[in-house]
Amino acid sequence: MLKAVNDKTKIIWICNPNNPTGTYVGGADLKSFLDRTPKEVLVAVDEAYVEYVTAKDFPETLKLISQYPNLVVLRTFSKVYGLASFRIGFGVGNPDFIQDLEVGRLPFNTGTLAQEAAIAALDDQKFVAKSLTENAKGIAQYVAFLEANNIPYYESQANFIFIPSKRNLGMEIGAKVLDSGYIIRSFPFGIRITIGTTADNTTVIACLKKNLDLLK
Ligand SMILES: *Cc1c(COP(=O)(O)O)cnc(C)c1O
Repeated sequence: MLKAVNDKTKIIWICNPNNPTGTYVGGADLKSFLDRTPKEVLVAVDEAYVEYVTAKDFPETLKLISQYPNLVVLRTFSKVYGLASFRIGFGVGNPDFIQDLEVGRLPFNTGTLAQEAAIAALDDQKFVAKSLTENAKGIAQYVAFLEANNIPYYESQANFIFIPSKRNLGMEIGAKVLDSGYIIRSFPFGIRITIGTTADNTTVIACLKKNLDLLK
């Protein structure tokens, strides 16, 4: 990405952990990237899945903001807090950048109800902890199935797991899973499955098991 930066570059988007792979950029790599990025280029780090991260070397981006005037960090209440339909999230950046952003931002803010819901959600860390436990259990369910059947997958730092398809059969696998009543994200190059309840995961895994030939 650094090599692709030129004088036309205005913004660089880093999704960390990444969607749809569930992979991540570590702290040292992110810092060295920021150190070498021109200060006129905005670096937006989208951390929609940050709460799920277990990797020890994941960057503490909020602490980096004071060092990098061109860094902005984006978070959402749509994932671990379960408030997707409230359309609420936030960005953290340096005051100068935020002031510039205000000029172009739409005059009306997020809704009052959504803001109240977000504040209440922040206080409900028990729900977050439960979501994280359920997610870890679900990831383990998928990993056990994939390992047992020798199916390659990407280690996930998020609430989904990505299974690449060497033979570009992702859409076909997605159609089979749809038949069993679940929508997953399918690309020709692989599938991304959101972690559900233990029962949901069991049903999806049973469907994948019936279609092992497509996964190999
Ligand atoms: C879900 C998600 C968001 C946040 O979306 P909202 O508009 O807040 O619901 C941002 N980035 C990525 C990569 C996401 O998956």
